[in-house]
Amino acid sequence: MAEALLQIGEPGQTRPKRACRTRAVGIDLGTTNSLVAVVDGGKPVCLADEHGDPIVPSVVHYAADGAVAVGADARDRLAPQFPRDTVASVKRFMGRGPKDAEATRRLTPYQFAPGDGTVVRFAVAGGRAVTSMEVSAEILKVLKARAEGELGGPLAGAVITVPAYFDDGQRQATRDAGRLAGLEVLRLLNEPTAAAVAYGLDKQAEGTFAVFDLGGGTFDVSILKLEDGVFEVKSTGGDSALGGDDFDRAIAELLLRKLREAAPHDRPIAALAAANAAVTDLPTARRWRQVLDAARAMKEALTFRADAAADLVTDDGPVTVGLTRTEMELAVQPVLARCAPPVRQALADAGVDAEALSGVILVGGATRMPLVQQFVEKLFGRAPLGDIDPDQVVALGAALQADALAGGSTEGDMLLLDVVPLSLGLETMGGVVEKLVHRNTTVPCGATQTFTTFADKQTGFDLHVVQGERELADQCRSLARFTLKGIPPMPAGMARLEVTFTVDANGLLRVAAREETTGRETAVEVKPSYGLTDQEVERMLLDSFAHAEEDVQARQLTEQRIEADRIAAAARAAMADTPELLTGDDRRAIDAALAQLGAVRAGDDHQAIRRAVEGLDEASKAFAARRMNVAFERGLRGRDVGAVEAKADETAAGKRHAGHQHERGH
Ligand code: ADP
Ligand code: MG
Repeated sequence: MAEALLQIGEPGQTRPKRACRTRAVGIDLGTTNSLVAVVDGGKPVCLADEHGDPIVPSVVHYAADGAVAVGADARDRLAPQFPRDTVASVKRFMGRGPKDAEATRRLTPYQFAPGDGTVVRFAVAGGRAVTSMEVSAEILKVLKARAEGELGGPLAGAVITVPAYFDDGQRQATRDAGRLAGLEVLRLLNEPTAAAVAYGLDKQAEGTFAVFDLGGGTFDVSILKLEDGVFEVKSTGGDSALGGDDFDRAIAELLLRKLREAAPHDRPIAALAAANAAVTDLPTARRWRQVLDAARAMKEALTFRADAAADLVTDDGPVTVGLTRTEMELAVQPVLARCAPPVRQALADAGVDAEALSGVILVGGATRMPLVQQFVEKLFGRAPLGDIDPDQVVALGAALQADALAGGSTEGDMLLLDVVPLSLGLETMGGVVEKLVHRNTTVPCGATQTFTTFADKQTGFDLHVVQGERELADQCRSLARFTLKGIPPMPAGMARLEVTFTVDANGLLRVAAREETTGRETAVEVKPSYGLTDQEVERMLLDSFAHAEEDVQARQLTEQRIEADRIAAAARAAMADTPELLTGDDRRAIDAALAQLGAVRAGDDHQAIRRAVEGLDEASKAFAARRMNVAFERGLRGRDVGAVEAKADETAAGKRHAGHQHERGH
């Protein structure tokens, strides 16, 4: 009864080379190199080109006739000839505005086209201006075509990896690039998490692992806990401006010094050597690229050999420069040393000692260098794991995740937990930040907090959402501002605003606010404008440690001032309200205390303000007791009970408000 079914393909579709359960792919969209992988027969594999090479260099050339070339040919043949029309390391520009990207651009031969000021546009051949999303989309299209060829049809979707440190703007830009390439982006996955997925599933590993990812342009370190098939990122750290590219630059500068002696008449080389590799014009840019490429090739060769040489073209004719591994290691050592502080920070954030780790996973081509492996071993006190190719491990993990998300069978119930890289909060009175979601909280997550009005008869709330570790809002990154209006006028502290933050699995934030008595609501999708560089994220983190003491002082001062103003206003209002209950002594004592408070309020001694507040409290004690008694007697006589209760409530609410201000100084 077995009946042979012959498969007939759709016209135009290639015959599948693989029979995968899902047509979902994992993509490592790297700064330097990109890869695509699928799960075939339960095992993830990277898809190779016709030469068997799985790596697509992330280099895109735009020709004057409109043709676009991606990969090794663009990098090796076209980039040296057309440096301005051949975009490499575009990932460094993802989610960046022209202003932020300018510093990065200066290290490259590229030119920015004038734009609307929010997105970077590269001016390339044919009078075109392409955004970083479009450039990335060209790389994705090549990977997509490769996968479609192997799978014999359109893809179900893709998981694209991003550095753990990518902020919302950079993640958004990556997702947009995927859309531009015609891909359904199933998930943006952190690269170190993807690496752990690859290792965890292959080895059934359990325990706490560190992922050390040194690629071409970014350095990421993550501490991950693997348990019962759950991958939890305990902390992340890194530096998005640190990688093999920086090694290449350091080596190229060394080569320039050597070249200057060998080719003294070469003007671009002399200019570069003198101006610390500053690129000024096209011939100089070409020369610089040639030297950079030689530096990269020699660096990679020195992983396997003790010395290397390169033949370079100069105005003095061809020159051969040699480089030993020792020379190279001396040149890159200072760059490599910059990996240590983020590692220590990530360990501290995760609350683990290096000795407690179950293993260290190496990711990224630069971790092939013997010097890097020695460095990692010394840093963590153990030899790193090296079973999976560090070039492929991220794409392999992404493929496993894509397969699981698209409904494949591989550990379908696999759960991935990631974290918020920087705290999310709201600005409160006096510019102080109330953090709702703390750094390294597992996503998806949410938090709700109730806020109250500061002023009497306040009819609106101005909400300012910020991200960062500092205590004051103007030192954090501003994410969004919005207003909740139409609240009926009430005494200060009576309106209750419930604010809810929700962060989804991709790390995108949503904020909702609701005033409890009126039920008024508002919500915003928080989409950060292109703007913050990862160095800024890093710097904000480092700053928060350096300024922790200063911030606490500033915060206490702000809070004391707010309390001083409230108490002074309340005292004045009470005196105006019931002057008949005020003795001459009371008035003199309260006036003196108010004057004292006014005198210290402007100063920066929060203790003095606190003492003055206590002084005013003391001076108005008898008066306050009398007011209480009168209100109470009225209540006992059955007159105006509601009013008394309302007043008592108001006092209690005021106290709560003041108490809340103290509690926040955690
Ligand atoms: P990315 O994730 O940024 O795309 P990769 O993980 O592909 O980067 O790493 C690229 C970097 O690794 C480049 O700087 C490249 O020169 C370097 N690299 C690749 N192979 C080697 C090697 N054998 N020795 C030293 N460095 C290498
Ligand atoms: Mg990488």
